[in-house]
Amino acid sequence: MTLKIYNTATRRKEDFQPQNPPQVTMYNCGPTVYDYFHVGNARNFVVVDAVRRYLEHSGYTVKFVQNFTDVDDKIIKRANEKNEPWDRLAARFVDAYYEKADALAVRRATIHPKATEHIKEMLDLVVKLVEKGLAYEKNGDVYYRVRAFKGYGELSGKNIDDLLEGARVDVGELKEDPLDFALWKAAKPGEPSWTSPWGEGRPGWHLECSAMSMHHLGETIDIHSGGHDLIFPHHENERAQSCGATEKPFAKYWLHNGFLTINTEKMSKSLGNFFTINEVLDRFQPAAVRFYLLSAHYRHPLDYSDAALEEATNAVGRIREAVVTAEKILGGAVAGTTSDEAVRLEAEFKEAMDDDFNTQRAIGVIFEAVSLLNEKRQAYSRNANGESDKMAADALVGAIRRLLGILGLEDLIFSAGAADADGAFSEGLVDLLIRARKMAKEAKQFQLADYIRDELNSLGVRLQDHPTGTIWLKD
Ligand code: AMP
Ligand code: ZN
Repeated sequence: MTLKIYNTATRRKEDFQPQNPPQVTMYNCGPTVYDYFHVGNARNFVVVDAVRRYLEHSGYTVKFVQNFTDVDDKIIKRANEKNEPWDRLAARFVDAYYEKADALAVRRATIHPKATEHIKEMLDLVVKLVEKGLAYEKNGDVYYRVRAFKGYGELSGKNIDDLLEGARVDVGELKEDPLDFALWKAAKPGEPSWTSPWGEGRPGWHLECSAMSMHHLGETIDIHSGGHDLIFPHHENERAQSCGATEKPFAKYWLHNGFLTINTEKMSKSLGNFFTINEVLDRFQPAAVRFYLLSAHYRHPLDYSDAALEEATNAVGRIREAVVTAEKILGGAVAGTTSDEAVRLEAEFKEAMDDDFNTQRAIGVIFEAVSLLNEKRQAYSRNANGESDKMAADALVGAIRRLLGILGLEDLIFSAGAADADGAFSEGLVDLLIRARKMAKEAKQFQLADYIRDELNSLGVRLQDHPTGTIWLKD
């Protein structure tokens, strides 16, 4: 099966055919850096990262751009409230983005352009639109002339006359038509500004993404993504600007993730019903948070609750325990071991992901593999069928790790504590105590052997005796 992607522009699933395979160009609207991002924003970053990883796994070379909106009303307002220079505030939250996105295993984009570093490209685009009669200046502001662009409303499926009802003109705006939107805003006292042909001013948000996308990825990109809330007006306006200027398509596939909700209401800064990623990562493991964000299909709503995060923590724990137990008992898989079952499960995973990145079904396949692994591993522990169970379990361990890797979950699930020097030291101590317990048992000092087991247990280290030896697991 070939990869199918739901395209917001056509409202149906389409075969994925990038313009210049194996290259894929992809742009995701990044954060406005005036605060820590919330779990709703994290859903967008994680989902898009999974899409990118899956494309790469499928053999594509992805050039991925995600911007920072680092000049904006919200940044200026927050900086004034905090009495902090606006650019310092923005730089702080760029760093915070990297820190928390890294923690969630969201890989860094090929390029993370900042709006403030692309003012020239933005001005060039506005000049072009003015020349083409698609934009006009009024009092230092420059507006896009919406009715002059024929395809306006096509992406979001809106009709111009319906839009007119919702459109408004703010005090001081001198638009020709309430539908028109600002490309460039004249400077207000005390606000950051740049020199333009229309005097001092700063760019509008929609303009930023058009200019940065076209500058880094060319006039037509393969995939443009963002949250559902960006379809209108942001992406509709980006499309009008870019197609208006180039007379070429702007994006081949438009991909939009559904909302993370709280009590079925969109999580958002303006409603105040949000949890920052910092709060959530203080309470839950990154593996559980990423797993949770991928547990629903990306286009469906996903409701946030402590219970959902606890469930994800348990699910991740079950995967970790199954794999770690098996690896310890099997004593290191034979490289390249595979089985019909593992091949079937990997094919089912691919089928799920090829169907518009259905991570929900893909995770279901991983759980089927985990159940099978537990069966095979137990059979091997009982020594019922020796080598063939070991081979089957080895193959499943390999498959589970590979599939988790494609979703960006493998390192998060298995790295905890083991990678650092302290972790290696503690592991060495546990192994030492297990050997001491074995010696105590051999010397028939059962009280001492039980004492070692119970004390380790109270430290969260559970020992399991198997015919093949004792292994330990951490809670
Ligand atoms: P912002 O910084 O507000 O522009 O948001 C960054 C990204 O997060 C955008 O792609 C938004 O569409 C997306 N987003 C915002 N709120 C939510 C939410 N509650 N659920 C899913 N995605 C969201
Ligand atoms: Zn954008």
